[in-house]
Amino acid sequence: MTSRKNVKFKFDKLKSETAEIDGLEVSIGKLIREKWDEPYGPTPSPSLATLREWDLKLLKRYKPFYLPYCDVCCLCTMGKCDLTAGKRGACGLDICAQQSRIVLIACCMGAATHIGHARHLVEHLIEKYGRDSPIDVGRSVGVDIEAPVTRLVYGEKPETLGDLEEVLDYVEKQVTQLLASTHTGQEGDNLDFESKVFHAGMIDQVGMEIADLAQISVYGFPKADPEAPLVELGIGVIDTTKPTILVIGHNVPPSVEIINYMEESGLSDSIEVAGICCTSIDATRYNPKAKIVGPISWQLRFIRSGMADVIVVDEQCIRTDVAIEAQKTMTPVIATAEKNCLGLPNRTNDPVDEIVKDLVEGKAHGALIFDPDKVGEVAVRTATLLAPKRKKFKVIPEISEILEGASKCAQCRFAPCMRACPNNLPIREAMEQAAKGDLEGLSNLYEVCIGCVRCESACTNDLPIHNYIVGASIKKMMEEKYKIRSGRGPIQDVEIRKVGGPIVLGEIPGVIALVGCANYPKGGNEVAEIAEEFAKRRFIVTTSGCSAMSIGMYRDEDGRNLYEVYPGEFDAGGIVNVGSCVANPHIAGAAIKIASIFARRKLRGNYEEIADYIHNRVGAVGIAWGAITQKAASIASGFWRLGIPVIVGPHGSKYRRMLLGRKDRKEDWYVYDARTGEKVFVGPCPEHLFYTAETKEEAMVMAAKLCMRPNDTARGRMIKLAHYIDLHKRFYKVMPDDIHLFVRTETDLPITMKEEIKKILAEKGWKENIIPDPTLLPRMVHTKEEKSDE
Ligand code: SF4
Ligand code: SF4
Ligand code: SF4
Repeated sequence: MTSRKNVKFKFDKLKSETAEIDGLEVSIGKLIREKWDEPYGPTPSPSLATLREWDLKLLKRYKPFYLPYCDVCCLCTMGKCDLTAGKRGACGLDICAQQSRIVLIACCMGAATHIGHARHLVEHLIEKYGRDSPIDVGRSVGVDIEAPVTRLVYGEKPETLGDLEEVLDYVEKQVTQLLASTHTGQEGDNLDFESKVFHAGMIDQVGMEIADLAQISVYGFPKADPEAPLVELGIGVIDTTKPTILVIGHNVPPSVEIINYMEESGLSDSIEVAGICCTSIDATRYNPKAKIVGPISWQLRFIRSGMADVIVVDEQCIRTDVAIEAQKTMTPVIATAEKNCLGLPNRTNDPVDEIVKDLVEGKAHGALIFDPDKVGEVAVRTATLLAPKRKKFKVIPEISEILEGASKCAQCRFAPCMRACPNNLPIREAMEQAAKGDLEGLSNLYEVCIGCVRCESACTNDLPIHNYIVGASIKKMMEEKYKIRSGRGPIQDVEIRKVGGPIVLGEIPGVIALVGCANYPKGGNEVAEIAEEFAKRRFIVTTSGCSAMSIGMYRDEDGRNLYEVYPGEFDAGGIVNVGSCVANPHIAGAAIKIASIFARRKLRGNYEEIADYIHNRVGAVGIAWGAITQKAASIASGFWRLGIPVIVGPHGSKYRRMLLGRKDRKEDWYVYDARTGEKVFVGPCPEHLFYTAETKEEAMVMAAKLCMRPNDTARGRMIKLAHYIDLHKRFYKVMPDDIHLFVRTETDLPITMKEEIKKILAEKGWKENIIPDPTLLPRMVHTKEEKSDE
């Protein structure tokens, strides 16, 4: 089959009045060759406003609740415009539209980053392995729907690396159009901006899926493997007696070529390759011998430890001062991406010998090399030659230096260090304690410090506070020895067949997706505790990226690693690490595959129907407890358009607005019963689409509640209500005050709490209701003709 827009002609012989040409081939665009015979749905490759009606349906229920982080606009030279108290800017924009516009800009940045990454990766892999290299992310284990998001949105089924380029053409065009709508004097309505935010999130999911499909297929990462290897995680697992290469970022080809060069040179056991952030997860998916230092917040502590002999950075979430910091420990930096050149000289075309010599002799503190093969050789040879000379020079202070430094703390009255700290950590008190010779206070900050060094910038005495925290915790740091399951990639179709029914009926109480970065208010253990709580309760827990690492850096009360205790299967009680950030669409993809495989809904270009199905039936909730970046924002918005709620941690309020339902507005919570066309009250299910929780306890209670869906059977609702009530009682010590809104019939009531709840229902004037076949789309109501057809 050919794609819609690309045409190819071939003429054996073309004869005109003026010429005769043999073997002419004309190709307009590229060609997706595929054998997918499913008919197109209504919205293949949707443009900005194609799914607007669906978005507005969601936004009618889940209205933006603005938390302006800044109430002026200075995006054009007519500003600054004061947007307070109902005032409009010189272009006519009000504060609501401005907040939504900033969210859209952030989501465009996030989507462009993933899509740009995917483009870079796919081009590199095509150059190296050819356009016809097949997409295979688990065919041998029955992954037949291997690109659910792309099929749903774009409406095609990519089969080769070359096919992926065409999908990228589409998503790149969408990002450009979205960004254009943020220009002065373009979009002016806040809800239309929000609809475009959803669009950004949707195409972001496509971009990420493309990146992961490409790298899984070509590099042979685990393919839908629930038993993907357990790999080593933590600073303590790195053997620093060996030359050590640190990789940071998200684009794995340079790391792959480092590993390849080591293997080809027989150096696999002589050099350590360790990484931070998603590049490291993907390096372990390529070769389980690679090691993971930790999440994004571990960056500075490891660089300053001086353990790395060479640092190789690619793209995204890398400290922009990495070259400056690395110089302090005499560690050369190799930058590898056009998007992140760090001011380094371009040595891509220089001979390897020369680059290595310059780096080893200290004539250059870094190099920009765009060729991943050359990066591999330069990094390995430089680390090998430099390691014996460097003696692991470090800037982490000895205990005596910390004590001396702490004595210089002025105990400033307004503690600028603490005021600058995003988590308001008790730095002044810890310094006071340290000045008296007790380092416990500083050491206690180690797990909760996110390594941003804002305290250092703010300190009136220029004290290297972060170094003191790390120095006071050096023993703890060197004992960080953990395990993480390297990313498994997609969910198998057979797994979906097994759990689709129990999820849709509510008998598996929900899917909790712990994703995103490491801007945790109280350390990564909270993410692990959330994962453990829901895995114990036999929800399906999925994870990716830095959150997956944080889960690995935790031991339960018996000292066990959660990845060793809970299986990696997409099943009740599993903890499923899908992989790096770009593996996130496997989570959304699982929900999409439930609609497709279990409910046999058409997938191809059929976004609205599938989203309606997921929103009403699949009890999935995303939790981005430490969300930092614009990418995290766009990932969340991809879930929203599918009707999947997302909870963020306290810092998430800086995303400027929530999408909150109003449970007090009964009129907001009606659906159509697809069997009859009647409108039926289903209660606030799910109550919110985007919610900030202040504490992990609040997040857990809310997550359990947000897993309820209108389609739950009585048995399913009973199970879900029991978890919600149990968590609420445990953390708040009282019954929730809104149970009556979630009980449809008495058969929904958890047996052990039946009498207690019945009393509450009587007080609230509760009336029994029916359980509909729920949909928000009038067109999904079965017509009489359809019924007689059935
Ligand atoms: S974009 Fe509009 S609101 Fe912003 S500064 Fe310009 S005129 Fe003012
Ligand atoms: S480095 Fe740590 S202690 Fe310092 S401001 Fe950042 S989070 Fe706070
Ligand atoms: S700003 Fe610096 S000197 Fe002042 S209390 Fe904080 S650590 Fe001490």
